[in-house]
Amino acid sequence: MQTLGHFIDGQPFPDEHRVQAVYNPALGEPVRRVAMASRTTVEQAISAADRAFPAWSRTPPLKRARILFQYKALLEQNAERIVAAIVEEHGKVWEDAQGELARGIEVVEYACGAPEFLKGEHSRDVGPEIDSWSEFPPLGVVAGITPFNFPAMVPMWMFPMAIACGNTFVLKPSEKDPSAALILAELALEAGLPPGVFNVVNGDKEAVDTLLTDPRVKAVSFVGSTPVAESIYATGTAHGKRVQALGGAKNHAVVMPDADLDNAVNALMGAAYGSCGERCMAISVVVAVGEATGDELARRLKPKVEALRIGNGTTRGLDMGPLVTAVHRDKVRSYIDLGEAEGATLVVDGRKPSVQGSKTGFFLGGTLFDHATPAMRIYREEIFGPVLVIVRVPDLAQAVELVNAHEFGNGTCVFTRDGAVARHFSDRVQVGMVGINVPLPVPVACQSFGGWKRSLFGDLYAYGPDAVRFYTRRKTLTQRWAVQGIEKAQFAFPSNG
Ligand code: NAD
Repeated sequence: MQTLGHFIDGQPFPDEHRVQAVYNPALGEPVRRVAMASRTTVEQAISAADRAFPAWSRTPPLKRARILFQYKALLEQNAERIVAAIVEEHGKVWEDAQGELARGIEVVEYACGAPEFLKGEHSRDVGPEIDSWSEFPPLGVVAGITPFNFPAMVPMWMFPMAIACGNTFVLKPSEKDPSAALILAELALEAGLPPGVFNVVNGDKEAVDTLLTDPRVKAVSFVGSTPVAESIYATGTAHGKRVQALGGAKNHAVVMPDADLDNAVNALMGAAYGSCGERCMAISVVVAVGEATGDELARRLKPKVEALRIGNGTTRGLDMGPLVTAVHRDKVRSYIDLGEAEGATLVVDGRKPSVQGSKTGFFLGGTLFDHATPAMRIYREEIFGPVLVIVRVPDLAQAVELVNAHEFGNGTCVFTRDGAVARHFSDRVQVGMVGINVPLPVPVACQSFGGWKRSLFGDLYAYGPDAVRFYTRRKTLTQRWAVQGIEKAQFAFPSNG
């Protein structure tokens, strides 16, 4: 069986010293193995990135952008190969993997604007013959640590902007679906990126700990679960690094009595069950405002959840594939058991799914609970599977209060026909990304992505304008070219007063 190694200094880096199986979750069987990098191997990747930094940071942004334009073209030419790798190892359905890659490519497109977003800020005549400006030089070697659920897109939230800004990069993708990241690195080299600018190390905690403690790594971008995000933030910042660590979520969709329910229900289906619920922006809670809205939502959602088309994502036109691993499938199933025990009404039970084709994969059907309460664990905890719970509240104020009381604040949305309700909701809700009749308000590449509360540790969001600030450091110059005369010594603090 093939063992995937790493990609260091512009070359594949074979490694067999410690390996782990990579599964095809639709078949429920291992398809290859992946190496777990040792500290020494990760240090080799950091050294390669460190060596590449001086020349790359001095490469004009326009030339960096030209490589990124070429990279975008190569990503599009190789889309089928990348999508196939995502579907095989993650299990999401083909069209969903295509969407993931397309959103990743949009970040590459934005990164092509490097000459524009790195041009700095200039103030002329801030004093007599004095000009002042800010430059945004890169940090050095930066690292990315990414989750299993977007094996191409989440790495692409990070490295295109980091390298566009002049940094060099070491990526540690998820060990569950590592192939896509290796293809991304191979194509970047083919696009003309110098060796060492973008490196990939596969692995687990040992690799991550090396990245967090090596003094040559100046910043770390992390996306994954909240407990790991919190510890990455603590360790990375304790070692003097800039860290952004994006964590878990429990995203509420508030449905008002006046909403267009046909559209709301269709939107909820895709947002709750797409990618088997394994999205940090998945809707996992419906907050029905009013009992009648709750009854109507449960009635309309039930047949649609029962009709989900489930199977191997290589078959076109399906709604849902398997969960990523047997362990994760069992964890999600245990939440369905728990919801029953906690007393929520089980409207659709996904524990015995009807699956097209494969019987051995890590499948679960869509599950719908009604009458969940804020005290229940199925409401409070991130399940990260195809389980949607309905909570009922009497009015908008209590809907907002419920969302704001939750520990997570990644995404939320409201379905309504009333602009004033929408404005009231978006003004008061303590969540980073808000949709108005948009169930998955994932910001586009020219905005930035991030949550509030325990969904993000750090100050700056991923990609977009925040990424320029995260991956650069401001240097402000103040310059005087006196036209004539000799200056007297001045002891008052300089001002224009
Ligand atoms: P995870 O936290 O288990 O793993 C994420 C990364 O951290 C992986 O590369 C993994 O190898 C590494 N890792 C895991 N345990 C570690 C440890 N103890 N020490 C050091 N490194 C460790 O997350 P996952 O299961 O791969 O992904 C799912 C989670 O990611 C969900 O909670 C989801 O909400 C979250 N997520 C968040 C966002 C966001 O933008 N906020 C986006 C996607 C996924």
